[in-house]
Amino acid sequence: MVNERMKGLGTERSAIRELFEYGNARAKEIGREKVFDFSLGNPNVPAPQKVKEEILRLLEEVPAETLHGYTSAPGDFSVRRSVAEFLTKESGVNVPAELVYMTCGAAASLTATLHALCNEGDEFVAIAPYFPEYKVFAEGAGGTLVSARAKDDFHLDIDELDRVIGKRTKAVLLNSPNNPTGVVYGAEEWTALSALLARKSEEKGEAIYLISDEPYRELTYGAAVPYPMAFYPNTVVCYSFSKSLSLAGERIGYVAVSPRAQNAEDVFAAICGAGRSLGFVCAPALFQRVAAACLGLTSDQSVYKTNRDLLYGALTSYGFSCVEPQGAFYLFVKSPLPTAEFCKKAREKELLLVPSDSFGIEGYVRISYCVSTEMIERSLPAFEALAKEIFV
Ligand code: PLP
Repeated sequence: MVNERMKGLGTERSAIRELFEYGNARAKEIGREKVFDFSLGNPNVPAPQKVKEEILRLLEEVPAETLHGYTSAPGDFSVRRSVAEFLTKESGVNVPAELVYMTCGAAASLTATLHALCNEGDEFVAIAPYFPEYKVFAEGAGGTLVSARAKDDFHLDIDELDRVIGKRTKAVLLNSPNNPTGVVYGAEEWTALSALLARKSEEKGEAIYLISDEPYRELTYGAAVPYPMAFYPNTVVCYSFSKSLSLAGERIGYVAVSPRAQNAEDVFAAICGAGRSLGFVCAPALFQRVAAACLGLTSDQSVYKTNRDLLYGALTSYGFSCVEPQGAFYLFVKSPLPTAEFCKKAREKELLLVPSDSFGIEGYVRISYCVSTEMIERSLPAFEALAKEIFV
């Protein structure tokens, strides 16, 4: 007998993956150029040249047994020190290398952190709409994911959070720039949230943590992305280089615990313990070093802005409604029909849009625009025809 919950997770594909597989099958039937697949958030621009240069330099200069061997479990110390120095310079919070843990991407950063914090009966509050894997990760850690609805413009609803956060809340899990809405939380929001969490921690009699999931930190269209650590002491940052450096398949990221967090050393030790119990061993050794050499760099993201402007402009001109994304590479469009019906009609026009129910709310679709601009241009007549059919 296997664990039924795990079997379920392994056999029920995520809505996003299912759509992606459908797109591939459909492309075989009618030709790739006729299918408009907006399902996946896989960066479509190459990694910066410096990534290649560093890989080649490391291969030349570092003995293979060191380069490809185990590093210590939390990561190579000089890599951790580079990350800590970078974070200190950028955030103004003095992050020591001893509180940085290198991971296999944001997914591993999140699972290690959730496992580290979770005790029986603990709840993790996420802002709906949220990244669907949050539920899987929180439940996998033995906790419960509790949803707090965002405002209509997808910014933080502090009153709603005030209602939802309670004595069982262990942490609030936030993502800015946001997948799926593209919203970037501003300094006033972090200030208000920080005051709320301080009050709630006081009422609870122990720290409520803030887990800041930041794979899209550098991916904005001009908006400043504040550092939550600078606002709230009990913060754990879950970062990844998947999107900033277009290295999603290389699995590299980190967790940084704020030195101002209550019991910061214990939180860090628990993250190391969680990583151990999950069998992470250490993050990929070559890419730890590549990432450390590329801190602050990004791949050329101008195509995402071109795509955002093109899609947002066209779709709103056809009558669809959505909030203009300030970051990440997703458009979250209000569904003008019941969502399943809308997705079906879109699919009839070969437009593959992800329904919002897996993001914890109904009535929207997500369009991932990390695709070629040319595909978007080819898709616009189909969007226009869809609008004409619906808005008659
Ligand atoms: N968090 C969010 C909001 C994401 O969108 C993603 C990936 O798309 C992840 C975490 C996981 O990132 P990674 O590929 O670095 O594990």
